[in-house]
Amino acid sequence: MRRTVFNEDHEAFRETIRAFIEAEVVPVYDRWMEAGSAPRDFYRKLGELGVFGIEVPEEYGGAGETSFKFTAVITEECSRAGVSFGGSSVHTALCLPYLLAYATEEQKQRWLPPFVTGDMMMAIAMTEPGTGSDLAGMKTTAKLSADGTHYVLNGAKTFITGGVLADRVIVCARTAAPTPEDRRAGITLLVVDTTSEGYAVGRKLDKLGLKTSDTAELSFTDVKVPVTDRLGEEGKAFSYLGQNLPQERLSIALGAYAQAAAAVRFAKEYVQQREVFGKTVASFQNTKFVLADCQSEVDAMEAFVDRALDAHDAGELTGADAASVKLFTTERAAVVIDKCLQLHGGYGYMQEYPISRLYADTRVSRIYGGTSEVMRSIIAKSMGL
Ligand SMILES: Cc1cc2nc3c(=O)[nH]c(=O)nc-3n(C[C@H](O)[C@H](O)[C@H](O)COP(=O)(O)OP(=O)(O)OC[C@H]3O[C@@H](n4cnc5c(N)ncnc54)[C@H](O)[C@@H]3O)c2cc1C
Repeated sequence: MRRTVFNEDHEAFRETIRAFIEAEVVPVYDRWMEAGSAPRDFYRKLGELGVFGIEVPEEYGGAGETSFKFTAVITEECSRAGVSFGGSSVHTALCLPYLLAYATEEQKQRWLPPFVTGDMMMAIAMTEPGTGSDLAGMKTTAKLSADGTHYVLNGAKTFITGGVLADRVIVCARTAAPTPEDRRAGITLLVVDTTSEGYAVGRKLDKLGLKTSDTAELSFTDVKVPVTDRLGEEGKAFSYLGQNLPQERLSIALGAYAQAAAAVRFAKEYVQQREVFGKTVASFQNTKFVLADCQSEVDAMEAFVDRALDAHDAGELTGADAASVKLFTTERAAVVIDKCLQLHGGYGYMQEYPISRLYADTRVSRIYGGTSEVMRSIIAKSMGL
């Protein structure tokens, strides 16, 4: 079916991104995989291309777009080519909305111009070694100094995408103890300078997939964070997360859909040229039926993500909507990609074939941004259960 969510501007942007990926990413991607990250300079190239400034207002050096669809195009094109832009989607899809919504004018002037050029890369740190799904259980503390000029940050975070590369990290920390009525009270967002004394990057974690995005442990020992680097109001982090997690989840859903669509394309190409028993794998009825099933699943995912994209641009995507589209697409993409890998036989298990990367990369989409079980809990709650 013809997609109606993207207009001519989005499609022109798609062509630019596709050409950029072919020229700047595909030829060097194996090297990035071996290194475990994309090089620092690549992020400046993304800045030059305008990728980081799409949704940043013009007065801070951006393009001033209000639609999330351009960012969606990037996600789709990366998946189509079987590559990723390292941790850059965290920079734009996850961190930027917090800056746009909660930074003061002074903070925007300081942070947004280098954000746009890629000179200041950002990450967001919620998860801790002892708590992920249950964020209210976090132990990292930020105590206001006696003179009220700065917070003293202590604690540890883990699984932080872009954590090695980041120049500034949005850290969730407890500025007050939870209250008996509200476990979520007392959590605040701080934008922490990674060159601060007491700030340390621990291990760069070795992952099953997503080999080009660095995922790190972070620790904070008496890190001084100026009050002028607090994002939004004290104790409001949970409501801010609630407002921004839907976009993160939509972004993950888009990635899962696009990876499933890419898997079907890779499998179709492969089975048409691979011969067994004197004929192509594509000639078996089983192959046709499997791929037909997969295509139909991808069509359903596409309809769902497109509807969610329109709802998000209209400001109508609820937390439960976002949970639903993430749950559906990530669970179904796993099934589709597994079937497409099977059609490749042994070659599907080899790193040099993009289907194997898709298989490994997509697994985490059912875990990060909230697990499938957490998505089910959100949906069930919205049903009054
Ligand atoms: C590659 C990668 C990148 C990541 N990037 C970031 C990042 O940039 N920033 C960041 O802050 N975090 C990041 N994360 C962390 C991620 O969001 C968490 O891993 C995720 O939220 C799950 O938390 P957990 O790992 O502590 O699992 P746990 O919360 O310990 O969950 C363990 C199991 O218990 C289940 N469970 C939990 N609660 C319930 C419940 N109420 N009912 C039923 N089952 C339940 C879970 O679904 C899961 O199956 C990343 C993780 C990975 C793997």
